[in-house]
Amino acid sequence: MGHAELFMNWAFRSAVNILPLSKDQKSLSLALTEWVYTGEMYDLEAPNETCQLCDHPNIRYQFNIRNAHNHNELLVGSECINKFEIRAVDESGALLNVIESRRKVNRDKRHLVSEASKKRLINALVELLKKDEEFEIENFINYVQDRGAFTPLQLSILVWRLNEKGIRHNPADFTLIMRRNREKDQLRAMPDWKIRKIWDYLSSPQKEWVIGNTRFKL
Ligand SMILES: [Zn+2]
Repeated sequence: MGHAELFMNWAFRSAVNILPLSKDQKSLSLALTEWVYTGEMYDLEAPNETCQLCDHPNIRYQFNIRNAHNHNELLVGSECINKFEIRAVDESGALLNVIESRRKVNRDKRHLVSEASKKRLINALVELLKKDEEFEIENFINYVQDRGAFTPLQLSILVWRLNEKGIRHNPADFTLIMRRNREKDQLRAMPDWKIRKIWDYLSSPQKEWVIGNTRFKL
């Protein structure tokens, strides 16, 4: 199926869903101008909903759009807000332009994604707290809640303990801090086998830094 055809299908499905709920019940493009993204958004924690506008399946993050005339509401994916150029409102209720609206919905989506990541991280640490008697896991939890990241030494210990206790976790949820010399020195002093254990937890620029600034060989 070509792009134009895909777009037609998508627009058709959306028209079927949104026209009966709009004041203008004939033109999709006119009906869409009646709707605004309210700023209400939800993380369902699993991709198991359908976009109420275009019927796209596997929606995890839902965004609320409301009709300005009749206050009908739909829960839709952020893609639909962007593709249909649905306008957002700011905190005071003022209508944003298309570019600002897109910026807002993308920012809101990133916020939901990052909150979900923080939550998974804390859940893994709380599970470790219950199982690990040798380490003061509370200190790690407090540290990451204050700073949003771990030092290389903290990360190294945590990865060791999490694996030792068989706690499933997502390396992408862990953020390493290495802004100051103290943290860079920790990495410089780390033997290769230890760096290898935390390798998947580093960001690409951090990996590049380690390769360029320590004796570490992949
Ligand atoms: Zn959609």
